Amino acid sequence: MPTLTFLGAARTVTGSKYLLDFGDHRLLVDCGLFQGLKELRDLNWQPLTVEAAAVNAVVLTHAHLDHSGYLPRLVAQGFSGRVFCTPGTADLCRLILPDSARLQEEDARLANRHGYSKHAPALPLYTEPDAFRALSQLQPMGFDRPIQVFPGVEIEFINAGHLLGSAFIRMTLTGPPARRILFGGDLGRYNRPVLPDPSSIPEADVLLCESTYGDRTHPPDDDGEALAQIVRDTINRGGRLIVPAFAVGRMEEVLYWLRRLEDSERIPKVPVFLDSPMAIDALKFYEERGNELDPDMRDGTKVVSRFATARLRAVTSPQQSKELTASQNPAIVLSSSGMATGGRVLHHLKQALPHEKNTVLFVGFQAEGTRGRSLVNGAAEVKIHGEWVPVKARIARIDSMSAHADAAEILQWLGGFTRPPDLTCLVHGEPAPMDLLKASIERQLHWTVRTPALREQVPI
Ligand SMILES: [Zn+2]
Repeated sequence: MPTLTFLGAARTVTGSKYLLDFGDHRLLVDCGLFQGLKELRDLNWQPLTVEAAAVNAVVLTHAHLDHSGYLPRLVAQGFSGRVFCTPGTADLCRLILPDSARLQEEDARLANRHGYSKHAPALPLYTEPDAFRALSQLQPMGFDRPIQVFPGVEIEFINAGHLLGSAFIRMTLTGPPARRILFGGDLGRYNRPVLPDPSSIPEADVLLCESTYGDRTHPPDDDGEALAQIVRDTINRGGRLIVPAFAVGRMEEVLYWLRRLEDSERIPKVPVFLDSPMAIDALKFYEERGNELDPDMRDGTKVVSRFATARLRAVTSPQQSKELTASQNPAIVLSSSGMATGGRVLHHLKQALPHEKNTVLFVGFQAEGTRGRSLVNGAAEVKIHGEWVPVKARIARIDSMSAHADAAEILQWLGGFTRPPDLTCLVHGEPAPMDLLKASIERQLHWTVRTPALREQVPI
């Protein structure tokens, strides 16, 4: 009997990895990095329950690090099979994985320099050459084309509307008995700009569904008014608006809204700095794959122009970034990382946080244990590069820009099923939202729902 083993994102939001074991085949769906709390990050160093060399293939739902960032480690440990993903996911992985490797190497270097690792010398989880090897194993496949990847196993990618290239994976074990497993990846949202609505799925025997915001309702669409208000207030105070955002996915949406607010004269045309070489590269992929975006983006004009504010400046070199950090002129600065755990945004935060006139705006999920979570929770000071920085700036957050469906949207999507799956497993959520969503699904849909623990093996 086939089994699924939950090797990550099990009652937590990161580290997505699901091992499907059947007959002679072992397929790993998603290969994500654990992020956030140290006890979670430490899991990246523990061996999987399966030898890397014994995994026949990997299938990726999308390129976010918590779904793809363990791949170079798996390759370094001996995985040599193919990695199936959409072309958009392959493009974004080419940006994200080498960057992640450089960060891992930088962390190890810092640990060695300051002697704060218990391992001597501290080693990176993986290196840039590991990331490039992983990229060479990518096997892009278009949306909506079921393809047999092994005898008896067919996979198909279906647009999930969560990120460029993001997909549900419909896997069919041709049997007998035939089994259809739908790996939901991360679920996008309805009626939002830039990305399309998540595709409706009529049926599956086994369903894996995320639950990041299983306890929340995103604020109703306000046509960007909350963002407009924050921009106007900050600029009126002569301050800077710092937006920590993921380089891939989030920044495009923030830029889209800034441009839209400028066009309707609801915010002044202030300098907007995109301080993220990766975000600049990612924008090109959005341009190339315009046909996979929201229908609103396909009116014949260039996609990129939808993201270009009047005074947009791309900051590429570290020197330019330093000059920008030193300047105190009113402006909007978009920089990564999105949870303020690293990257160029830390320099901007160090400069901006001690001054009341500035605002720091969070637009995405802030995992437990991250600096972003401390700030939105009202920390009076945060440690950056070993120094305590007082928090005097305003801290704002806008949840309406989230790329994850809220509880009502998840239930709306589940409502598209014409019959209940035999088994629904909730994944990719912290315990409280996950348990609440489980209760809602049981109450409203009367489905059988499980919330597997880490390393739990479930017969399917
Ligand atoms: Zn994601």
